Amino acid sequence: MSEPSQLEQALVRLDEAAQYLNIDHDVIEKLKFPRETTQARLMIRMDDGSRKSFLAWRCRYDDTRGPTKGGIRFHPNANAAEVETLAFWMTFKCAVMNLPYGGGKGAVQVDPRSLSKAEIERLSRAYIQAFARIIGPDRDIPAPDVYTNSMIMGWMADEYSQIVGNYEPAVITGKPIALGGSKGRDDATARGGYYLVRHLAGELGLGESMKVAIQGFGNAGQHIARLLGGDGHKIVAVSDSEGAVYCEFGLNLQLLLEAKAAGQSVVSTVGQSGHEALSADDLIAVDCDLLVPAALEDMIHQGNAEQVKARVILELANGPVTPEADRILAKKNVVVLPDILANAGGVTVSYFEWVQNKQGYYWDVEEIHQRLKIIMEREGRAIWNIAQEKKIPMRTAAYVHALARLAQAIEAHGTQS
Ligand code: GLU
Repeated sequence: MSEPSQLEQALVRLDEAAQYLNIDHDVIEKLKFPRETTQARLMIRMDDGSRKSFLAWRCRYDDTRGPTKGGIRFHPNANAAEVETLAFWMTFKCAVMNLPYGGGKGAVQVDPRSLSKAEIERLSRAYIQAFARIIGPDRDIPAPDVYTNSMIMGWMADEYSQIVGNYEPAVITGKPIALGGSKGRDDATARGGYYLVRHLAGELGLGESMKVAIQGFGNAGQHIARLLGGDGHKIVAVSDSEGAVYCEFGLNLQLLLEAKAAGQSVVSTVGQSGHEALSADDLIAVDCDLLVPAALEDMIHQGNAEQVKARVILELANGPVTPEADRILAKKNVVVLPDILANAGGVTVSYFEWVQNKQGYYWDVEEIHQRLKIIMEREGRAIWNIAQEKKIPMRTAAYVHALARLAQAIEAHGTQS
C-alpha cells in the first residue's frame, strides 16, 4: 500500500469527527477536495541582473462560510499538496473560531534567507501580480505564515492597491500598523494559545510554575516564551533550525530574544547563563509539563511520540503531530491542544484587522486582547466540553465542533451551490 498523502492524512480527522455527528454524506464529499488551487511561476530580476523563477500556489479550499482566509509561506520545501493541506486546516480553524471565513493558503517555493531584501520585495509583488484575480477583500484574504512577516504583507497590500487602482487594506492582514495593520496582530498566535492554556490550566492539571519546552523560536515561539515566562513559568528548552538549548532552572529569555533579534541562532547562547547545548531532536523528550511545537508539520510522529514527557502539548504550529503520534499520545494520557484551536489566535486577530479596515475605525490593544480572550475561552471551553461528553481527544472534539458549523452552512446554501 502506498503512503497516504499529506492531505489524505489530514482528512482522517474529518472522517473521525463525522462519526460523532449526524450529517449528510454530501457535506463530507464537499469538504474532501479543495475548490481550486492555482499554480504560477514567478519570474523576478535578481540584484545581479539575472532572472530567476519560483513556483507559487494559492489554494481556496472551501468558501462556504465566507471568503477564504489563510497565510502565505515562503519555504524551500513548499509544494501544492502542502498548500492544500494547510488550506484544509484553515477551513476548520475559521469554523472552530466561528469567523465568517472559509479556508485558503498560499506558498512560494523559496528559501528567503538566500534572497536580499530587495529581491524578497520583488518576489512578494510578483506573487500578487500572479494571483491578483484570485484574491480580494471579499474573496480570498492572505496573511503571514512561515518565513513571511508584516513587511511582506505591506508590499503585497501596496501591489494589490496599485493593480486595482484604489487602496484596499482589507485584501490582506498582518500588515504594518502604518498601513492599516491591527494592534496586537504580532503576538496574536502565541497570545491565543496562552489564553487557552491559562483558561484550561485547572482541568489540564497545570500548576503555577510549569516547565515549558518550545520547538521553533520564530514569531509564535518567541512570543509564547515571553508570555509564559512573564507569568513565572520556566522555559527549560527551545530550538530553532540550527539546534536547541536547555537549562533545567529556566533559560535566560532576554539573552535568547537578543540573539534572535541579532539574526543568530538560539545555539549562540550556549555557555552563557547556564545554557547547555541539546540536539534539536531531543527537545521532544525533555522533562517538562508543557511542550509547544511552534515550527512545521509532522514534528511529533510515530518514531518519537513515545518519548514525550510533557502532560500537555500546545500546537502553535500547523499539523505538528501526525495521526499515528496522536494515538500514541492518547494512550500515554498526553492532552493535545490541537492547532485549529491552539494557534487560531493569529487568524482571529487577522479577522479583527479586516473588520477595522472595513469600518475605518481602529481599536486599542486592550480591546483586541479582550476580544481575543473571550473567543479563545468560549471556543476552547466548548471543545473541552465536547471532549468530556463524548470521551474523545480534544482534536476530534475541535473537528466535531467545526464540522457542525460547516455542515449547517453547507446545508443552508441549498442543493444548487
Ligand atoms: N498563517 C496563520 C495560520 O496558519 C494566520 C492566517 C491568517 O491570519 O489568515 O493560522
